Amino acid sequence: MTPAAYAVLNLTALAHNLRKVREYAPAAKIMAVIKANGYGHGMLRVAETLAQAQADAFAVARVQEGIRLRKAGLHTRIAVLEGFTCTEELDDLLAYQLDAVVHTASQLALLEQHDGSAQLAVWLKLDTGMNRLGFSAAEFNGVYQRLSHCALVQQPINLMTHLANADDRQDAMTLKQIALFRQTIGNVPGERSIANSAGILAWTAALNDWVRPGVVLYGISPFPDSTGAQLALQPVMSLHSRLIAVKPLAKGDTVGYGCRWQCPEDTTLGVVAIGYGDGYPRYAKPGTPVLVNGQRVPLIGRVSMDMITVDLASQPDAKPGDAVTLWGEGLAVEEIALCADTIPYTLVCGVTQRVRLVEA
Ligand code: PLP
Repeated sequence: MTPAAYAVLNLTALAHNLRKVREYAPAAKIMAVIKANGYGHGMLRVAETLAQAQADAFAVARVQEGIRLRKAGLHTRIAVLEGFTCTEELDDLLAYQLDAVVHTASQLALLEQHDGSAQLAVWLKLDTGMNRLGFSAAEFNGVYQRLSHCALVQQPINLMTHLANADDRQDAMTLKQIALFRQTIGNVPGERSIANSAGILAWTAALNDWVRPGVVLYGISPFPDSTGAQLALQPVMSLHSRLIAVKPLAKGDTVGYGCRWQCPEDTTLGVVAIGYGDGYPRYAKPGTPVLVNGQRVPLIGRVSMDMITVDLASQPDAKPGDAVTLWGEGLAVEEIALCADTIPYTLVCGVTQRVRLVEA
């Protein structure tokens, strides 16, 4: 029997989305971002599929994620975006042949202390306005010189920055960041990388040696005003469950915790086996669409840990066991994110271990 809540992964769609990225950035190599369990899609399966589809490299956030990929037999290049915080992590990067992102002074000191018996591929990260990780433009020359003299560091050093607001096509910030990056690094050797998903789709000036797509690979739009489908992407994850109870409701009845939702007229209530314990957003508003037997019905009442409730007025014949889709094929995750005042990244990343991931 299929589990109550499950997510179907369409790996063909994943490969399709990678091809779309290639169309946008034909001259660039692709570093596919698969951190956070492949944005909730299952990191190993995502990596296998993208490696087969010729992704040039992978990016993860943490050393442990890189080790997991290596232990699973992945041979493709992998960069660790947060780099390392201690000698043990640095040794792991070397042992598992992972590229390090170097973004802060304490990392530089650890690299200088190392004996240099091995070689570490490095991405020097510049902070061009995100104000999160990276060295400032003023620090760049000094850091570059020190890294160039580290016996451990493979030459040439690669260079990257991260865009803070590329999903806003009007914001001049992105062009400022690109200009500052170029100006600061000048002609030093080494490959360059700027663009995340929004950078790839909206800012050709951000395209250089490497692009780093994340969310678009999963078929999701990085822009607040469009869906992946509108960008010719295909959703990779579809989240499903089923009705587990159907019952009549009378005008004036309230539904769920807090008794906040009150029936404006007699209707039929459907209870679906999915809740925030599965990763369905707790703050999805009444009216959020849910597909029951392929038809849209509105969410009513509060989302609880294991269940949500829907108004089946338009589907009086629905019965326990009937199929429910929460997002994915036929119901854009971007639309659900808007209804929950969040971004689609949090929805797919937030799918919990209770939800079985199955391949289409
Ligand atoms: N590059 C870096 C440094 C990131 O941190 C991320 C994700 O957060 C990405 C690329 C991919 O971003 P997106 O999923 O928006 O494409």
